[in-house]
Amino acid sequence: MTRNHQQPEVNIGLVGHVDHGKTTLVQALSGSWTDQHSEEMKRGISIRLGYADATFRECPDMDAPERYTVAEECPDGTESEPLRTVSFVDAPGHETLMATMLSGASIMDGAVLVVSATETVPQAQTQEHLMALDSIGIDNIVIAQNKVDLVDNDRARTNYEEIQEFVAGTVAEDAPVVPVSAGQEVNMDLLIQAIEEEIPTPERDPDADARLHVARSFDINRPGTRADELLGGVLGGSLVAGELTPDEEIELRPGREVEHGGQTEWQPITTDVRSLQAGDESAESVTPGGLLGVGTGLDPSLTKGDGLAGRIAGPPGTLPPTRETFTMEVSLLDRIVASSDDGESTDVEPVSTGEPLMLTVGTATTVGSVTSARDDECEVALKRPVCAAAGASIAINRRVGARWRLIGVGTLTE
Ligand code: GDP
Ligand code: MG
Repeated sequence: MTRNHQQPEVNIGLVGHVDHGKTTLVQALSGSWTDQHSEEMKRGISIRLGYADATFRECPDMDAPERYTVAEECPDGTESEPLRTVSFVDAPGHETLMATMLSGASIMDGAVLVVSATETVPQAQTQEHLMALDSIGIDNIVIAQNKVDLVDNDRARTNYEEIQEFVAGTVAEDAPVVPVSAGQEVNMDLLIQAIEEEIPTPERDPDADARLHVARSFDINRPGTRADELLGGVLGGSLVAGELTPDEEIELRPGREVEHGGQTEWQPITTDVRSLQAGDESAESVTPGGLLGVGTGLDPSLTKGDGLAGRIAGPPGTLPPTRETFTMEVSLLDRIVASSDDGESTDVEPVSTGEPLMLTVGTATTVGSVTSARDDECEVALKRPVCAAAGASIAINRRVGARWRLIGVGTLTE
């Protein structure tokens, strides 16, 4: 297994239909998927959003695509050179809970869409995930046509044409389609080359205020730990801007709900950073990319069981406002994608006053009630407030039957 000596610098989502090979592909590119020896903190965060880091390397004496590898040793026995470390976010396909995928997507810099060559195109989540990428505007995409070891040449070609037809007119229209076998580790070099070319590391402003999107939070103390030996609460998430260093003070918003003479009120929480973990290692400072564990001075009972998931952290006084209501510009999808259990696609009806919506803003998911709906704009009152700046993207889900389905995206206006 390749060890990571670098913090990952870019987040790449793995999307596509269940069983098409997302997890297998991540495994092939990053070595052991759930590292048994990794620390509890990292393991805890990896499970829900399924993160894994991979260091792409090259053999300088070889031509492309063969020069691209994840192995430390080149075929001629020389040592390969690291290019960059990337972090894969493996979107849970089986659950098809779009909110989970989108809360991961809010921190995706690009995506690999995995399409199995053994099935007709598109399968339900292939379509749903592409629509999500399309609506949140993730256009750095590579398509992995997987399981080519299971089909003959004719079928591979037909499937390739089906993929091209399917992505025509979408954000993935110009995405390269790379035939691979994740299971047999065939064409991994071509795939790495395509990712290097199509999904660049975004430019980051080194002077920006730190913005940590908290996706998970937990208590890492073993039951029965003495009070004076308790470690502070841990936040798991992604830094989307700036830099974090130990000892620095941070504020979390919306913070926590407190009772105030019969009224409840949301109060920001202030704490300090005590330790940082990026990739497999503890770090003296972290910048955007990959998954971070942030040890804090918080009472672990606050962070236990994702108690602070969905919050934003940054230097005190710099965070966007906490909002219990907001107005958003709405852009609806044409139709709701069919899932295997409910048959046909249905048209998306306009948003109506009074209806409940599930809204994902960054890593926060909240239910809102529509208080006023106009053509392409609506106002919502939230059950739980969110911390978000004007211009933030919102995934809008409506309850259809037994589940929430993505119906469009919003942009927070005020
Ligand atoms: P996911 O649901 O998209 O994460 O799919 P998985 O990675 O769990 O793969 C689903 C099944 O397909 C597993 O049994 C894998 O072993 C198998 N699989 C994945 N990729 C390949 C491949 O390239 N070739 C073959 N033959 N099987 C594969
Ligand atoms: Mg999987």
